[in-house]
Parts: sequence; structure tokens; C-alpha cells
Amino acid sequence: MEYNPREIESKWQSRWAEDGQYEVSPSDEAATFVTVPYPYPSGGMHIGHARTYTVPDVWARYRRSQGDNVLFPIAWHVTGTPIVGAVERLENREEKQLSVLQDSYNVSDEDLARMETPMEYARYFIENSYKKNMQSLGLSVDWRREFTTNDEAYSKFITWQYETLNERGLLEKGLHPVKFCTNEKNPVTTHDLLEGEAAEFQEYTLVKFGWNADGENATVPMATLRPETVHGVTNAYIDPEAEYVEADVDGERWVVSESAAEKLELQARDVRIRDRFSGERLVGERVKNPTTGDDVPVLPANFVDADNATGVVMSVPAHSPDDWVALREAKEEDDRMEQYGIDPAEIDAIEPKAVIDVGGYGEFPAKDAVEEYGIEDSADSALKDATQEIYTREFHDGTLREMYGGYSGEIVEDVRDGLKAEFQKRGSFDAMYEFTENVVCRCGGAVEVAEQETWFLRYDDEEWKRKAHEAVAELNAIPEATREQYDHTVDWLNEWPCIRNYGLGTRLPWDDRFVIEPLSDSTIYMAYYTFAHRLSDIPPEEMDREFFDTMFFDDGDDEIARSLREEWEYWYPVDYRCSANDLVSNHLTFFLFHHAELFEPENWPRGITVMGLGLLEGEKMSSSKGHVVLPEEAIEQYGADTVRFFLMNSAEPWQDYDWRSDHVESTRNQLRRFWNRATEVIESDEVDDGKRDLHRIDHWLLSKLQETVRDATKAMDRFETRTASQAVFYGFEEHIKWYRKRTDTDRPGARWTLREVLDVRLRLLAPFVPFMASELREQLTSEPISSASWPKSNPEFESVLTEAEESLVGGLTEDIRDIVAVTDVNPETIRVYVAADWKSRVLAKVTETGPDVGAAMRSIMRDEELREKGNEVNQLVQKLVEDVRERPNDEVDVLSEVDELSVYEDARNFFEQEFDAEIEISREGTNAYDPADKARHATPLRPAIYLE
Ligand SMILES: [Zn+2]
Repeated sequence: MEYNPREIESKWQSRWAEDGQYEVSPSDEAATFVTVPYPYPSGGMHIGHARTYTVPDVWARYRRSQGDNVLFPIAWHVTGTPIVGAVERLENREEKQLSVLQDSYNVSDEDLARMETPMEYARYFIENSYKKNMQSLGLSVDWRREFTTNDEAYSKFITWQYETLNERGLLEKGLHPVKFCTNEKNPVTTHDLLEGEAAEFQEYTLVKFGWNADGENATVPMATLRPETVHGVTNAYIDPEAEYVEADVDGERWVVSESAAEKLELQARDVRIRDRFSGERLVGERVKNPTTGDDVPVLPANFVDADNATGVVMSVPAHSPDDWVALREAKEEDDRMEQYGIDPAEIDAIEPKAVIDVGGYGEFPAKDAVEEYGIEDSADSALKDATQEIYTREFHDGTLREMYGGYSGEIVEDVRDGLKAEFQKRGSFDAMYEFTENVVCRCGGAVEVAEQETWFLRYDDEEWKRKAHEAVAELNAIPEATREQYDHTVDWLNEWPCIRNYGLGTRLPWDDRFVIEPLSDSTIYMAYYTFAHRLSDIPPEEMDREFFDTMFFDDGDDEIARSLREEWEYWYPVDYRCSANDLVSNHLTFFLFHHAELFEPENWPRGITVMGLGLLEGEKMSSSKGHVVLPEEAIEQYGADTVRFFLMNSAEPWQDYDWRSDHVESTRNQLRRFWNRATEVIESDEVDDGKRDLHRIDHWLLSKLQETVRDATKAMDRFETRTASQAVFYGFEEHIKWYRKRTDTDRPGARWTLREVLDVRLRLLAPFVPFMASELREQLTSEPISSASWPKSNPEFESVLTEAEESLVGGLTEDIRDIVAVTDVNPETIRVYVAADWKSRVLAKVTETGPDVGAAMRSIMRDEELREKGNEVNQLVQKLVEDVRERPNDEVDVLSEVDELSVYEDARNFFEQEFDAEIEISREGTNAYDPADKARHATPLRPAIYLE
């Protein structure tokens, strides 16, 4: 029978659908609930998504075959702006958007024309891409439960969640720094970014230097992250080429870069521009340090970035290697300074001012670091390291000098915040936000820090954090190393802005101008799955607070909610959530936070398995660059089982993997070979009494099979899909190869063994290749695979002794092969000498005492015959102790039971065929024919060999 994956797959796919195979309801069986983040259908599904959804499916199938009642649901996340934005770009016929849809996702013109609203757009990808591919992949999903996050009933659920959280004081309104897309004029989250996902808000201190401009007083705020150095300022720098403005900022006259003025306005400052000019206007001017009253000059510098903070910086050469080198260079550039109308003598007069003492450095730590790093000029790449070193050392170990009054003698780290606050209060300092790196929105717009009146979730609440840590502690974190990442995220998470100005989803219940953003409306929806299929008859207006309070808190009398509560109680908690590892720092931790707050500990998540990144032919997948493989194409070409098997076998879930078409093709060929072999076994006649005719080699294969069952089970319990599939498929294939060489597979015992092996392997492979396994097992046993349980290792067939014996046959084969290769002899007869009886007695003593020469010798000395052998025994013991030490304990325990002579006799046919020679097997010391006096070299488990 030819292997035709597409034919088998469509047959089983429709059979499962007709039988409602994966539609589950509460029962007496143990409930297992596995989830994966619902897809965001702003585009189509690609092969990277295929792995994300297949990992939980494999585990769901595994648990099902272990006898659990398993729920694996899917829904659709449409909240927020990406889908709305996609439709807008489509309306505008944007080239890039059209190309992604038409070239990467094969959307026809007709379908494009039909995508007029966001939900029509989403619906297209849900039906034509995600759902279709998930079904083709054989995902064991209960489709009755699907929903979108724009459904009215879902909104009622989210409304309940947010009203409850708000009542508990976990939401707050206030001015808050948010990531803000200057193009879309909307707050965005990490999810919406093209660049700068790791960017953090950084609060710069603005030191308000005074400037007398044509008789009017103005402020030139200089941005610094080290406000404690303010006494050491010797001069300022400005970019003479960049655009600056004079503006009223909250009623004060400020001079800042043009882009700084825009940022300040975003940060809720009242900004009115009065004048625009280039930075050159300030060059050569003197500005007054608000803390010391010193007048310092403003020098021109091209290293000043006018797009960063205010675009004017202060220079502290004593404590900043950057500034030290810059000042040195300024002193050498007389011509340039004169061009700007600055007297070089004025610059020569600038002396560094030491304001911080730090152990291990002299008066000017910056100078020491510059010398130590051998820095030549400001282009030197080591300057960055030198600067970082000084900043770090001074922060942790530096003490402020006497000019800091009450702060003098204090460590910088201890007083920076206090000093900052004090100067701020006095009006010498101000502050503004800036990102730690450049941030770009998916729409291409620049993202800036904005301060907005917003609603945010109070993830900084101590009590909430404590509960979240508890939830982390209870979690099965796979891999274990991620536990620390959850704890870390819980610690640093701050207030999280949870609303948007527009988009799909649920309106903020008490202020319907706002929509709850995607990472905030997806934290406890797993609970919604448990009853989603039973909501269609309930009018949404009945799903009020009492309805959900009854359901989740057992608080209320809503009859329907009471009955739905049973579903929730049965399925909850979530046993495993499988998700990409880049969601640890947001979604997955939010998931823990909200569960920890809203539900009792027994309903907190039990486990999370994270998944690594997918590459395509060694490169990052990208739908915008057309560098994607669509599941429908891969399935058409290779079959769904191959796609699944490749994805599960090429790496463990949390590791990155690489989709390489040549490797996928080789996987397909291996599966086809398996199919062909399996078909041969199925077509061979069944032998009822074969089990009574088992040879040693059959027992060996059956024993290996039990080992494989144990290994695969252990691996699956830890989501190690690669380890499990490797053991069951490729690893076991090696055993079968040896078995086929070793024995006549037409024997009744062999036929029985191969059928037994096939049955067990099909059950082990079913979670990975459900279509092929279902088809073959039905042919083999005439029973549907769905009734097949995950195998348990059968003690009847476990035999360490048989495995030890078979390894002797393997060892002898290799030894003979080595001698043939070395001597280049084509033997007619191979003489094998098994060690003498007394030597076996020595082995027995060694296995008894364990690998300890002294103990073994003491025991042997009590045996008169062995004692007489003297040095010969001594040497043998040394050798055997070493041999035994390398073997596992359970094997050592059986070694003395091995009857070497009979093992090799049993394998005589095999040896004869393998080497095309006569085999003579005898025991040392039995007057056997021994022309080369080889027999005396025999040791237990290692016979002597002579080729003739
Ligand atoms: Zn944007």
C-alpha cells in the first residue's frame, strides 16, 4: 500500500469532525486543560505559528491517551488597533500592505475587495488561513468554543473583570509615561513596535542653567542622568548646526532643541514656541549653574544629539571620560573656536573640578580611566567602556565632596534621589522622560514618551506582587530557568497603561471613550473557554456583575451561571499554557497576576511551557519581506504528519528551530520508510501462538521497547517532544535494524514480536503523527486509535540480563570486525575462546563486592583455588574492576548470570552470515584447538579471537 499522506489525512480529518472527537464535556475522568495564546489574525498563519499550536496539541493528545479528559480550545484575538490599521492601509491601497497580503498570503483580488471592515478582514484570515490550517494539521481542538474578543458576550466578561479590579483599587487614573506613536497619535505597547521593544522609560534630570538673552532671563535646561555631578560642571555643549527654539514652557522661558519642545509637549507640558534659531546662537554665550552660581561657557560640539532629551548637555570633565577627552580636544582646536568667536584662551583656562572621591582613583577619576584605557581621541571605541566604568564605580563607591554640604561624605547611590528631589523643590532642577533606545512603531511612525491622563493597572501594588510571586512559586515552569524570569518581571513591572483611544475590543466600563488594550483583555480568558459554547442562548444584557460573580465567586443566585460554574470548576485550573518565550515579560506574567488576584490558589495556573523562535532556512521569518512558508503549502507538499513531526523533532519546544526544506523532505522520506515497513508487518500473517516461541533476540527487542516507553513517557511529562520522538522513532529504528540483521524475521516468534513492537510504537507516535498512526493502527488491530492508550512499560518483557547478553554479541561482532580490518585477513574459520570457569568466578566476586580492588581481592583470597593463581588473578581483578565501574548497577547485578558460551552459540548463524566464515566457539582450558595460544587472553565478557 502506497503512502499517500493527503488521502489519509483528509479521511481522518473528516472522521474526527463527524465524530465530534475533540468536543469534550465534564465527566468522571480527570480534567486536563491546555491552552495557547489565541492568534491575532491581522495577517495569515505561517509555519512558525504551526509549531506554536502543534506543541499543545501533541501534549493534549498525549494526556488524552493517558486517560484524561482533555480540553484544547482556540479563539481569536482582534482587540486593539493592528487590524483596524491594516484595513485603513488597505483602503489607502498601500503598496507594502498589498504585497504582504497578495504575495505572502495569496489573498485574491476578490477577497481583498470584500475586506471592508476590521471584522471582515479578521474573519477572512480566521476562516481561510488559521482555522483551515489548524484543521489540516489535525489539531485536536474543541471548535464549539471559538469566539472573538470583539464578541458582545466576551466584552461582558471583560467588563466584569475590570469592574472587579477597579473596585479592589487595582486601577488608577493619572499622568503616566506611555509609549506614544507620533504618527497614529495613540499610545502603543511593546506588541505594536517594529524597533525598540526593550526600550525603557528613563527620567533625565534637567539642570536649569540661566542665560541672559538680550536682557531677558531664560533657562537652558541641560539633561543628565548624573545630577550629583552638578557642582563639577565646567562648560556646556550644544550642536551649532541643529534647530533650537525659545519657548514658554509652563510659563517659563526655555531654550531647548526643536525636537525636545515636541517631546515636552507630549509630556503634558504647556509649550508655546516664541522663536527658532540654530544652536550656533548660544555658542560662546555663558550660562549660570543654578546650584553654584558659576558662569560657564557654551561650546560647539558635533557629538551632541539634538534629538536626545533637551539637546544641550553639561560637561563634567573630572568625572566623565567623554567630557575629559572632549575638553582636551576643544583646547587643541583653536581655529575652530575662533571661527565661532570664542577666545582660545578662555577654553585653555577651563580646569576640571573634582566633586566626587572614589577609591583607587586620583583627584580626577576620568583622567585616570582615559590613561588606563589608553584612549587617544573621542573616536576611540574604548571610551564607552571607560565612561561606563567610572559611572558605575562612582555610583556605588563614590562619596560627595565638601561642596555638597549636608550630602558631603555620602555615597552617591544613597543620596542621588534625595539630592535630586531637593534641587527640584528649590527650582534648580526639572525632569523629562526619554527612551533608553530608539523606538519605532509598526506603522513606521516614531514613538516617543508621552505623559497622558490614562488608566493603568497597578502592577506596582505590593500585595498584588506578593500574590503573583506565590503563583510563580506554585508553577511548573518549563524550562525551569524561566521561573526566575517570571519573578524578575513581577518585581520590575510598574503601572501598566491598559487603555487605548480607539480600536476593537471592550470599552472601559466607566469611561467609554477608551478601549481596553490587547495585553490587558487577555489575562483570564482561559476561564471563558470553559463555558463559551453555552453562551449563545443567553442575552448579553443578562451577563452582568451578578452573573459572573455567581460563576466565579459562587456569590449570587443566577441559575444559569450556577450551571456554567460547574463547567468552570471542572476544567479549571489551566494545566499548561504554551506560549512564545518573548511573552514571559508581558502576557504570561499578566496571566499570573490576574489569576492570582481574581481566583483562589487552587485555580491558579499549574504550568507554562515557553517556546523558542522559528527560523526559515537559517533566517528570521518575516511576512513583510515575503520570507515565510505557509502551512497550507507545506502540508500540500509534505503532508501534515511530516510538518508536525519535523516541528516537534527538530528541537525541544523552548529551543529555536530552523525550517529547512531539505531536512523536512528527509523527514518525509523517513516517515514513508516507516509506513512501508509497517505495512509489511501488517500484511504478514498474524500468529496466535507466536508469543510462546520467543527467542532471546525477540526478548531483547521487547526489552528495548519497554525502555523506549519509559524514556518517552518521562520526556513527554516534561514537554520534551524532541527527546520523546527521537527515542520512539529514530532511536528505536536502530534497534530494529540490528534485530533484522540478527534473526530470521519470518519465524512465528519474530512475527509476533514485530507486531507487538509496531502496536506500541504507533501508540507512542500517535501524538506526533496522528493521521499515520491512526491509519496504521486501525489496519493492524482493526480498532480505532482513539481507544488506544499510551503504553505502559511491561515488566514481563523487561530484562537487563537479555540486554547485557545481546550487548556481548554486538561487542564480539565489533571485535572481529576490527581484527579483520587490522590484519586484512578474509577468515575461513573464526575461533572464539570464552574465558575459563575460574575467571568467571573472579567476575562473580567482583560484581558481588562492587568495583573496589581491595575488597574483591580479600574475597578472592578466601578461595583456595583462586589464591593459587597469584598474580594472574590480581591482574584480572584490576581489569574487571575497571570494566564493571563503567556499567550501570542493574547491569552489574546480572553479569555473573550471563552464560557467554550459550549466548554466542545462539548467535552462531548471525556470525556466520555476517563474516561468511565458520565459527568455532570453545571455552578456555577445555583442550580446544588453539594453534596460536590465544585462549589464555580471554577474559569474562571479552572472548579471545583467532582468525584462520
Ligand atoms: Zn504607529
